[in-house]
Amino acid sequence: MAIPLPDSDLVDKLVYANRILYDHGIVDGLGHVSVRHPTEPGVFLLSCNRAPAMVRRQDIVCYDFDGNTVSDSKERPYLERFIHAELYRARPDVMSVVHSHSMSVIPFAITKHALKPVFHMSSFLGAGSAHFEIRDAGGDTDMLIRDKHLGEALAKSMGDCNCVLMRGHGSTVVGGSIEAAVFRAIYTEINARLQLEAQGLGEITFLNGEEARLATEMNEGQLPRSWNLWIKRLGNVDLDQ
Ligand SMILES: [Zn+2]
Repeated sequence: MAIPLPDSDLVDKLVYANRILYDHGIVDGLGHVSVRHPTEPGVFLLSCNRAPAMVRRQDIVCYDFDGNTVSDSKERPYLERFIHAELYRARPDVMSVVHSHSMSVIPFAITKHALKPVFHMSSFLGAGSAHFEIRDAGGDTDMLIRDKHLGEALAKSMGDCNCVLMRGHGSTVVGGSIEAAVFRAIYTEINARLQLEAQGLGEITFLNGEEARLATEMNEGQLPRSWNLWIKRLGNVDLDQ
């Protein structure tokens, strides 16, 4: 039986999240954002296979943690839905997931240098990003997380971190809400840029563990302010078009 979508506010928020991530250059034709279903255990919401800037209300589909469509949808799913499925399975604290190929992160992913918080906005990076080597899990692949096994391996590599860098591919961040996950995707990219720049100047003093914890608590309370601005920046949008 098809699982119904939750209330329309959450669906709208997910559509906005897709467009905001594009507006900030975090995703292009590829990349995706999902949210855990608030009332159906083992289910999450994600667009069908569509460029994030073009995602509409009617594109949002429910999937189970094995990556099966559980909505009445015949649309093609994203190949990498297993990233989302396995992170929701492994991490009960995670309510939203963003996967992107945002570019400033790639140099860190390919050199195994961890991203660490250079300022309060990226405090969610805490002790550093995790690293995922797909070759260890699947040998030579097309680099995509296209099945359950690779999704599980990614979730294992991520552990308790909020951000995992994927060698030769991109990154994935998680949050306790759509707003938090979008915020983290945007500031992961900004942190990468700043960390790269600062490296050339000399030794970096990153936020320590306690600073990161306190700043994360503070940021969570400020999320609506950023979220409302990001929606305003989009201008007049029709979520059905
Ligand atoms: Zn990808």
